[in-house]
Amino acid sequence: MNDYVRGSAWRVPVTACQPRPLSAFLSRNAQRRPASAIRSLLPLEQEPGMISLLAGKPNPATFPIEEIAVKVRLPDDASSPVVVAVTGDRLQKALQYGPTAGTPALVDWLAQLTSSLHGRPLPAQSSDSTKPWQLAVGNGSQDLIVKAFEVILDSGDTALLQSPTYPGVLPALCVGQVNTVAVESDEAGIRADALERMLARWDVDEKTSSLARPKLLYMVPTASNPTGTSTSLDRKRALLRLARKYDFLLFEDDPYYHLSFEEATPSLFALDGQDSDHDQGRVLRFESLSKVMSAGLRIGFVAGPSVLVDAINKYTATSHLQVSGVSQCVAIAVLEQMGHRGFLQHAARTADFYRRRRDAFERIAHEILRAEPPVAEWTSPGGGMFLWLRLLLPLNANTAEGDSFALISTQARRAGVLAVPGVAFLASSGGTSTYVRVSFSLIGEEDTAEAFRRLRRVILDL
Ligand code: PMP
Repeated sequence: MNDYVRGSAWRVPVTACQPRPLSAFLSRNAQRRPASAIRSLLPLEQEPGMISLLAGKPNPATFPIEEIAVKVRLPDDASSPVVVAVTGDRLQKALQYGPTAGTPALVDWLAQLTSSLHGRPLPAQSSDSTKPWQLAVGNGSQDLIVKAFEVILDSGDTALLQSPTYPGVLPALCVGQVNTVAVESDEAGIRADALERMLARWDVDEKTSSLARPKLLYMVPTASNPTGTSTSLDRKRALLRLARKYDFLLFEDDPYYHLSFEEATPSLFALDGQDSDHDQGRVLRFESLSKVMSAGLRIGFVAGPSVLVDAINKYTATSHLQVSGVSQCVAIAVLEQMGHRGFLQHAARTADFYRRRRDAFERIAHEILRAEPPVAEWTSPGGGMFLWLRLLLPLNANTAEGDSFALISTQARRAGVLAVPGVAFLASSGGTSTYVRVSFSLIGEEDTAEAFRRLRRVILDL
């Protein structure tokens, strides 16, 4: 029997075997939020013969923009950049209010790519919210992740967070008074065994027994920010099994999916679709064009069960309405010019660019930070743009580790080097960390060497 109740008293029996319907995961806010009165009617404007007196759309004849021209550099070096001119109907649509979930051409392009990369057949075109999955575009993946937290978590609910975690999600969880529980990870990603132990003992363990059972697990499976490590296939399978057994959702935040230097393992979204016994899915997958096309375009996308994506769209319809039509039209102009193959070729070249940077960065780190006496150690990142340095600092009186916070935020800054202290990535507040995140995305070799020399000096001066 599934005798859960909602809100702060949320409980799911340890041996829950009947998964609750996905609609039961929605927060009270999401359940109460009415559909936007006007936006929900806009799709009807497309019906043949319909005359619309509906929307407060400005008349595009008054807009002083004649054309948007995008010069696209193709991944194949031989051809010169191609200029794509957006005019006519496409331009009018880009400059006008558009669909909440994104410009259809962009949504379709991304959905087709997602379908082929993750082996999830494209859902039939219908507005039926029971279709197995759908895709929506957001203002960067950040926008979609934060909205997804809001449409699922009530105050007093519990979210599991891969630790260390992407700090961009933490403020959203503090504001909502959600309980966060850290789940350890190592060089193969999230420790599914530790998580299983935690879940099995949830109601009796001192740390968790007063908390509601978790409603979701947030993780960065590929080249995690900050550690650069990826979750292995075995662990992904185990996490999915646990999500089904203990009835929670998986938030797969994968902006570095294309920036892996190692062979990619199937995504959780792909694995979720492979199990025909489970028709409703457990995984919300977040991706982004930020790392491979432009961070300033602010285009991210979410793919997942329709009930959940619909709830996110409903939120968008009452917040920023839609992602900028101009950004979307620039993105689709580039993507259509490249095609799926060209895009993947471009992404592979981008990964190669970062791999070479990582190699140079690590070589210099080795020369300077590992010189006698060594001041740091690290695991080589398998993708992305970060090195997660474990500083070899004097031990803190209360913990078995050193603490990089004061060193990085005061001494290193004074010495002219900026980095992020590890404590910023802790899923729970109040801890210490001997780690520091440094980025090799933009910095040249000379500056890298100078930054590491400064860092070394402040560590040795302690
Ligand atoms: N998730 C992770 C793990 C990130 O590192 C970032 C960007 N730093 C984001 C999400 C947000 O990316 P965007 O909003 O640009 O898509």
